[in-house]
Amino acid sequence: MNAQSKSPARHDWRKSEVEALFNLPFSDLMYQAQTVHRQFFNPNEVQVSTLLSIKTGKCPEDCAYCPQSNRYDTGLEYEELMEIKAVIDEAQAAKDTGATRFCMGAAWRSPKGRDMVKVTKMVEGVKSLGMETCMTLGMLTGDQAQELADAGLDYYNHNLDTSPEYYGKIITTRTYDDRLNTIQNVRDAGMKVCSGGIVGMGEAREDRVGLLMELGNMAIHPESVPINMLVKVEGTPLDMQDGVEPFEFIRTIAVARIMMPESHVRLSAGREEMNEQMQSMAFLAGANSIFYGDKLLTTDNPAADKDRQLFRKLGINPEEYVIDDVHAQESDAANMGQAKPAASELFYDAAIN
Ligand code: SF4
Repeated sequence: MNAQSKSPARHDWRKSEVEALFNLPFSDLMYQAQTVHRQFFNPNEVQVSTLLSIKTGKCPEDCAYCPQSNRYDTGLEYEELMEIKAVIDEAQAAKDTGATRFCMGAAWRSPKGRDMVKVTKMVEGVKSLGMETCMTLGMLTGDQAQELADAGLDYYNHNLDTSPEYYGKIITTRTYDDRLNTIQNVRDAGMKVCSGGIVGMGEAREDRVGLLMELGNMAIHPESVPINMLVKVEGTPLDMQDGVEPFEFIRTIAVARIMMPESHVRLSAGREEMNEQMQSMAFLAGANSIFYGDKLLTTDNPAADKDRQLFRKLGINPEEYVIDDVHAQESDAANMGQAKPAASELFYDAAIN
């Protein structure tokens, strides 16, 4: 990271300011995003996570983009909650291919008591491998959030999806406030927040502005901000959606980077449909996190070796996981004596490849 002085992160963005960022000439916006990015991050590092669907399909919610909703006929095969050992084995395999964070997703409105017993054990098991953990399980009560935090969960993902104004066109089975409450419960339990949205669902630019204002004006910015490009899945109501113009998607990433300078901005769902040049532009705009592996919950994600090739071409290295909490230190102690390859051995080092 260079020695430029950092401007403090703001939490008082006005709509006119965010609109003005979106309206900048493209080069000026990219320059501003890069300038901010370099104040807070190494521009040649990207954080790499792996995502596993631990319970797939039959979700009672009606999110219009989601093939896992039981309201849409998408041909998705239902899979009940995985066994704990199978999840930990998958995490080990992800670690062996270079992932430092393991995200587990379950298609629930919210977890039940019996589910909590299993998912907390999954968190403990994955932590014991020395990985960061993330889960997305639907809405959480304060007690459930605390249980997960006590088990060692680092991040909880709960997306806002879109602006408060457009939200009702996408989901009717839970409210925007429900989402904000879950995020608050996660914060109160001391976990990090992963929250972002989806672009290309038919929303207007002002909805993209509105989404980023909700995230960017939180008292603490989400540590991780996934910006997803809608993946159109046959059978969902958004199947025939026009999508968003690619430069508008890049602009959304750049504005997110400027508004939330300390957050990891994740280039998330939809990456399979982006060519290398588009992904590179997203990195230039300040995206510095990706999912790595061949499935993103239930839609395709670029195969891992394609990611390695792209990283090599761009001189990007995977960001290493800095173990900084008591759970990870405990797991490190438990693993003592096992030779742990450096991340650069697992993935590759751009400097020598
Ligand atoms: S996005 Fe989540 S809550 Fe919504 S239908 Fe899909 S799995 Fe259920």
